[in-house]
Amino acid sequence: MVRFRPSLMRLPRYAPARTLPGGVVPAGSESPHGLLPKVAETLPRPAGDVSRCPDMSATALLQAIAEHHGVAPERIVVGAGSSEVCGQLLHSVVGPGDEVVFGWRSFEAYPILTEIAGGTAVRVALREHVLDLDAMAEAITDRTRLIFVCNPNNPTSTAVGERALRDFTDRVPEEVLIVVDEAYREYADPALVPDALELLGDRPNVVVLRTLSKAYGLAGLRVGYCVAPPEIAAHVCKAQVPFSVSALAQQTAVIALGEHAEVARRAALTVAERERVTLRLRGLGLDVPDSQTNFVWLPLGAGSGHFAMHCLDGRVVVRPLLGEGVRVTIGLPEENEVLLTLVASWTG
Ligand code: PMP
Repeated sequence: MVRFRPSLMRLPRYAPARTLPGGVVPAGSESPHGLLPKVAETLPRPAGDVSRCPDMSATALLQAIAEHHGVAPERIVVGAGSSEVCGQLLHSVVGPGDEVVFGWRSFEAYPILTEIAGGTAVRVALREHVLDLDAMAEAITDRTRLIFVCNPNNPTSTAVGERALRDFTDRVPEEVLIVVDEAYREYADPALVPDALELLGDRPNVVVLRTLSKAYGLAGLRVGYCVAPPEIAAHVCKAQVPFSVSALAQQTAVIALGEHAEVARRAALTVAERERVTLRLRGLGLDVPDSQTNFVWLPLGAGSGHFAMHCLDGRVVVRPLLGEGVRVTIGLPEENEVLLTLVASWTG
């Protein structure tokens, strides 16, 4: 029998949110609005010959992302979703025995991808559902190579502010790569949550991670990217699986990025719904942290599994993290009403 790495044998498999055909609210924290109209028109007809390999250097996509952020294309690395870019970053800097620090709970893939890269995951407890950046800075050792700062944080929906993020970055040695994961950026209030690229874009060890899987409505197509200092990008792109971003994904992502005004309009609808749902949930007696994402976090502790089953009985799929809480993705208004009715009838 093939001898697998012991660390791989101990790893849990990434467990995606469940799906329920015909279910009411999606659980995968995607956009409830579906494809952008312009994308829907274009998607089934890829330009060019897909019997050929895609552009490995993703020239047009890099250019579109660079324009979107007002940076040079040399600073962009793309991947098949930002999950793949996380892997590329880890494989670039982490070796056996090296440590990767992140708040916990946070994005489920961080510890899995860390272990796959041969590193050791260092989980730092959240404080009041928010990343504890002081404790994360204190967790740094001479083996730390990379730190994930998920802002806003999945699954707790909370964000850290500008001052806290800047002070934290000042405390991290320059040899350590800081990855600010902004998967949910489009849903965050810019007055409260810093744009890491604006705030820290000139730091030599800061990389900002973005995805088209959330507000851009392309979760199934797999496009994510990071904006990094050019010398970091030049190395990280070597860790990409060759041709991982398909031709169709590249072409569609370029169209979607051009639709940022429509994306902002849709995100604003979701944010308004999120605020309405949060108030209603609080009115029903639930302790709901302020969300900066397209989901809310219900810290139900031991009741999480039971609550998720109750929702499933009502055909609403939520994401329970057993013993901790439940992530509820904001859907369309009528979908959210179904959820609120289920919460009202839940007896705990
Ligand atoms: N970062 C965070 C914080 C996420 O929640 C997710 C998706 N759940 C990702 C990254 C990865 O998204 P994708 O690979 O689809 O770009």
